[in-house]
Amino acid sequence: MNEIRMVDLSTQYKKMKSEIDSAIHNVLDSTAFIKGPEVKKFEEELATYLNVKHVIGCANGTDALQIAMMALNLKPGDEVITASFTYVATAEAIALLKLTPVLVDVYPNTFTIDVEAVEKAITPKTKAIVPVHLFGQAADMEPLMNLAKKHNLFIIEDVAQAIGCDYTFSNGKKVKTGTIGDIGCTSFFPSKNLGCYGDGGALFTNDDTLAEKIKMIANHGQSVQYYHDEIGVNSRLDSIQAAILRIKLKQLDAYAEARNHAAAYYDSAFVKHLNITIPARFSKSNHVFHQYTLKIEGASRDELRNYLQSKNIPAMIYYPVPLHMQKAYSNNRYKPGDFPVTEQLCKSVISLPMHTELNEEQLNIITQSVLSFFNK
Ligand SMILES: *Cc1c(COP(=O)(O)O)cnc(C)c1O
Repeated sequence: MNEIRMVDLSTQYKKMKSEIDSAIHNVLDSTAFIKGPEVKKFEEELATYLNVKHVIGCANGTDALQIAMMALNLKPGDEVITASFTYVATAEAIALLKLTPVLVDVYPNTFTIDVEAVEKAITPKTKAIVPVHLFGQAADMEPLMNLAKKHNLFIIEDVAQAIGCDYTFSNGKKVKTGTIGDIGCTSFFPSKNLGCYGDGGALFTNDDTLAEKIKMIANHGQSVQYYHDEIGVNSRLDSIQAAILRIKLKQLDAYAEARNHAAAYYDSAFVKHLNITIPARFSKSNHVFHQYTLKIEGASRDELRNYLQSKNIPAMIYYPVPLHMQKAYSNNRYKPGDFPVTEQLCKSVISLPMHTELNEEQLNIITQSVLSFFNK
């Protein structure tokens, strides 16, 4: 049996090694390493897949968020509302631009941003909302879009963990997450659902003017070489990564299916267990299971993690510390107890191995090990 890993990129690579290797070699032969045809083709293919007008590659997901906020002309002191239960990159990009991250709590079942809490946090300084489609499921976009409209706010979707996931509007229309707000930002970090073999990221938008601005900012603020209209950054997706992503994009739906298969196996093992809450499914979204995250109650989550580790089964805590209690972000604005749902989640969640290569034998060992912890 293959070693059980949180993410098994090695087994996945072996299945498409010849295709990947030859794509990399083609780029090497072409020497079009930066802004080559592979990048353009990948951007077009991803735009078609997502049904969005523009995809603009960049160096990573954190840059994508930063570039999005620069493109929307957000200025120091502007407030940007996001969830306290997320990866740090979301708030980091906001803070780096000297905007004010305004954190709010999340829903206890789906772990995504609490729309009522967002509404309460809106002030005259609020300029944007950054919903995070956490763990592979959509945030509740329709009421967020309504709020944004009512208060004249931008929406930047952080879709680093949920590329390919659909959100269903009340009229029945299904739309890919990341293409609903003004700008969607994603990451192609190797362990993401669509991951490359290094760093990479992209922005999505249906707005032609914004797309031009994003391209310009990501390329030193120039649209004509050596004529710099704005202060920009240097943030590019490179051709080797784009060539790899073109191959993996064709598998993205199959990957989501494999992840759902593993999730269903986990679900059926844990659904009746009194100490375990399986991941809730949000009625307005499918789940692409970037993470499979349990809530543990009435037992020690940390002891469970150690127990699994002793059996060579990795498990991770996403996330152990809420953003409002991180040293870098816990300014005078916040105190422990402000976001009880987030704080409770940080104490009770545990994520099990989740990737495209989990087989029945591995799933059986993982589930049996989790269950045996409670029967010790
Ligand atoms: C991974 C991730 C990012 C950042 O992506 P990088 O490519 O690592 O910079 C941003 N937001 C969320 C929610 C993520 O999971």
